[in-house]
Amino acid sequence: MSILSLQNISKKYPIQRGIFKRTVGYASILRDVSFTVNAGEILAIVGESGCGKSTLARLMMGLEAPSGGQVFYEGKRIDNLSYRRQMPIRRAIQLVFQDPSAALNERFSVGKLLQEPLDIHRIGTKDERMAAVHHALTQVELPPDFSERYPHELSGGQRQRVAIARSIILQPSLLFLDEPLSALDVSLQGQMLALFKKLQQTMELTLVIISHDLGLVEHFSTRTLVLHYGEIAELRDTAELFAAPEHDYTKTLLASIPNQMGKTRF
Ligand code: ADP
Ligand code: MG
Repeated sequence: MSILSLQNISKKYPIQRGIFKRTVGYASILRDVSFTVNAGEILAIVGESGCGKSTLARLMMGLEAPSGGQVFYEGKRIDNLSYRRQMPIRRAIQLVFQDPSAALNERFSVGKLLQEPLDIHRIGTKDERMAAVHHALTQVELPPDFSERYPHELSGGQRQRVAIARSIILQPSLLFLDEPLSALDVSLQGQMLALFKKLQQTMELTLVIISHDLGLVEHFSTRTLVLHYGEIAELRDTAELFAAPEHDYTKTLLASIPNQMGKTRF
């Protein structure tokens, strides 16, 4: 079943010159991109730096408008909504940042950091919000009394877990991970992947993971979308794609994986 669907999406950015920022042309970042994200899957988006992965993710989340084409979330168009009508989408679709723990405000307790999304969306009574904070901490395998702590009192891995708790506290359906592990050392990467997989199963989440780490993608995702200069080169079952890549660009990409990476690391 489809949760998110893109139809003929294109994105252009103006190329501006001079002190008056005169538009001298357009850079075409995405061209005629159409595909569907299935509910419950782990979809990986791969491709070299600058090929348009993050732009595509912002369009999929409704955070940016396409230059052409349409985006549907659960059958409803989300690419042309007003800010107010976007609020339910902003609850259902969440993003885990590249270095999420850097986004934690040091002056707030963990409890306040986790409660903030509930306050913004005006969800629950005071007691219900407190219960949701404790539940989210449990989901990321931290003790509930961590709500009293401050970010500087936490280890790197614990901060990461708090940031993840913040992105799941609104019970989203769709979670975007944009290079989610690149700021972590290798020993923590495996732990976080295991946590994401557990959350995906227990919360019935759909995951979209953007990564240049093909070992991770092969190990973790169910389908892989290969983006090449703003177009889809290939979108297939991950195991099949890694076993027998069809597109020349995918072959080049896979040939660049260091020996046995992904088979030993995770
Ligand atoms: P990736 O995530 O695959 O590295 P991005 O989606 O971040 O790629 O960027 C794709 C291209 O679009 C890059 O050339 C980048 O410079 C350009 N780009 C991204 N965002 C903007 C923007 N807001 N304005 C102009 N150009 C942009
Ligand atoms: Mg990017």
